[in-house]
Amino acid sequence: MLHVGINGFGTIGKRVADAVRLQPDMTVAGVTKRSPNFEAVVAHDRGYDLYTADEDSRAQFEAADVPTQGVVSDLVEASDVVVDATPSGVGETYADLYSEYETPALFQGGEDADVAEASFNARANYERAVDAESARVVSCNTTGLSRLFAPIREQFGIEKARVTLVRRGGDPSDTGRGPINDTLPDPVEIPSHHGPDVETVFPDIDIDTMGMKVPTTQMHTHSVNVTLDADPTAAEVRDALSQESRLFLLPEHLDIDGAGKLKEYTRDAGRPRGDVWENCIWAESVTVEDGDLYLFQAIHQEADVVPENIDAIRAVCGRTTSAETSIQRTNGALGIGQDLLDHDTGTRRTGSPADD
Ligand code: NAD
Repeated sequence: MLHVGINGFGTIGKRVADAVRLQPDMTVAGVTKRSPNFEAVVAHDRGYDLYTADEDSRAQFEAADVPTQGVVSDLVEASDVVVDATPSGVGETYADLYSEYETPALFQGGEDADVAEASFNARANYERAVDAESARVVSCNTTGLSRLFAPIREQFGIEKARVTLVRRGGDPSDTGRGPINDTLPDPVEIPSHHGPDVETVFPDIDIDTMGMKVPTTQMHTHSVNVTLDADPTAAEVRDALSQESRLFLLPEHLDIDGAGKLKEYTRDAGRPRGDVWENCIWAESVTVEDGDLYLFQAIHQEADVVPENIDAIRAVCGRTTSAETSIQRTNGALGIGQDLLDHDTGTRRTGSPADD
């Protein structure tokens, strides 16, 4: 049983903790918080041991009657592996602490790629993180693109990818972020940082990206154009994508026209927090014109990296060298794909348990 410490119990950290708790081969060693806010209370109610970021903040927890077990270094010492889910740029300040205790560490996409030995996506390059001292689970957008590009590269080849990322302004709890009434080229520079980030996963891919920010907190939407080496039909591409457990092809009959209905659908399906762990690709948008593939996909920024963190834990701890085994185990424990209708057959997908 792997004891997983989670440093930073915010948007990503709390979801990773809940996902760890559901795995048959992992348990939550504890989580850190800086203040005894509502998330600290939730962590305590869920039964997670709470650690504070430093000695100074312990007094605040005591005053609020929220019990703590120690400070972050105590958690690192008690953990077989640490998932760093602190805000962008803060993670790297903990790198020395993780090394000092020789505790393998995962960082998130807000950190620079050189914070870790490997940039990680389970479907694309699981093996690069096996037994690594550290790995960086790439950002929500890069995760969404890596999952999509891996099977496309394998089956049809990618000559050139061009993606426009229409990004949510902030997460629902980010009350200070915007825009609230504008459409921003963001970043204005082209290519945006997303293309180079995808290259940390696929070093030889030819990709250009443009980014925008819009006034929504729901999901990102990607407008994707890939010039393929091969010239398949749209049906062949749809068929290839439908075989992928973390790609969900939205059938037309569901009448899901955007992120609002999509999240309503996953809430109706009983997903925790309405999380959408899969890339959601509008099946009707999948079009091929003279070897150029076009499609739209929606990416739930708060959720898609969560199963990837679980797989990265198994990789850095050397628990399985097989991406397929880890992905199946993670999917089975979380219910990825199980409660969303399969596009082609109308049957329900089943996540099969891993066999080792
Ligand atoms: P967040 O602000 O929601 O949560 C961060 C947590 O870390 C908070 O609980 C905060 O109190 C805590 N924290 C702050 N400083 C700390 C410190 N010094 N020590 C310990 N804990 C500290 O952030 P988030 O959105 O969960 O992002 C975390 C990481 O995940 C970032 O690298 C981000 O880029 C990446 N990421 C975020 C999203 C997203 O959409 N939110 C998606 C993918 C990746």
